[in-house]
Amino acid sequence: MNIAFIGLGAMGRPMAEWLMSEGFLLKVSDTNTALAPIFGEAWAASPAEAAQDADLVITMLPNGKVVRDVLVGSGGVVDVLKAGAIVVDTSSSEAVGTTELGAELAARHIPFIDAPVSGGVVLAGQGKLALMVGGTDEDAFEKARPVLEALSSRLLRVGTLGTGHAAKAINNAIAACIFAVTSEGLHLGTKFGLDAATLLEVINSSTGRSGVSEGLFPGQVLSEKYALGFALSLMAKDVSLAESLRDGLSLNLPLIEKTHAQYQDATTSLGASADFTEYHKFVGKHLGGE
Ligand code: NAD
Repeated sequence: MNIAFIGLGAMGRPMAEWLMSEGFLLKVSDTNTALAPIFGEAWAASPAEAAQDADLVITMLPNGKVVRDVLVGSGGVVDVLKAGAIVVDTSSSEAVGTTELGAELAARHIPFIDAPVSGGVVLAGQGKLALMVGGTDEDAFEKARPVLEALSSRLLRVGTLGTGHAAKAINNAIAACIFAVTSEGLHLGTKFGLDAATLLEVINSSTGRSGVSEGLFPGQVLSEKYALGFALSLMAKDVSLAESLRDGLSLNLPLIEKTHAQYQDATTSLGASADFTEYHKFVGKHLGGE
């Protein structure tokens, strides 16, 4: 199976390298041409060039707008795709945009699957991501399955096209909210006179614990590494995508709204490329209420 892999950033590069190490045949493309020497003969000058002989196209791009542009924009991938080729978007894209794009691709007889990922940069390079897969085209899923299984330790089928992206956005909004309140709790505790490591041990032995408190706080925050490899701006985008899922549903979501506003402010304050875990620094900067 020939695979075109588009988007070789923090996640895409280790995913593509893992697939190559597992024996899959890849052509890769990214606007960052500094990556060309790293990928050698697998490198293609454009997404369309990467996709011309592909049976499967995988996108791992910043957001759904970029995915749309790469697929159906001018000089896009769909113009060169051979019959029967499948497109899988592993980016964290916007669910409604995904269903709209899926309808456009279906009109051209191109099956489309959303399969956003959870797990981060390290697990991406070990084929141990969790994938949440949307789409009900069983033939397309079965053809893509060996590649999706190679990338993941958990392959979760979640429903129709777009539901993978919706589930991913909701999960990240929850993680962002938990990270924010854990950060506030740790700052509050240290101002009161508690030792941060001691307080974290209490939380991790009690009901306040979470994946965030057990993983990210010791690994990235207390260690002052702040190098998870997931941009703060991408987390702000994910919370915003979760909030926008309620459009047309008239739902009151005060915590998701507040989390969205906080992460937007943090991105403005720390810069788009700051690590997501640096949100803890943002909380510290504004403890005085300014
Ligand atoms: P990133 O910014 O590191 O990588 C994106 C890559 O896309 C970059 O290399 C960029 O040059 C490339 N790109 C942008 N526009 C392009 C175009 N038009 N054509 C070709 N290449 C283009 O982002 P990332 O951290 O790898 O995240 C990618 C997606 O995965 C995002 O949707 C993110 O929300 C999601 N995600 C990230 C993580 C993480 O831990 N970093 C975890 C799960 C999901």
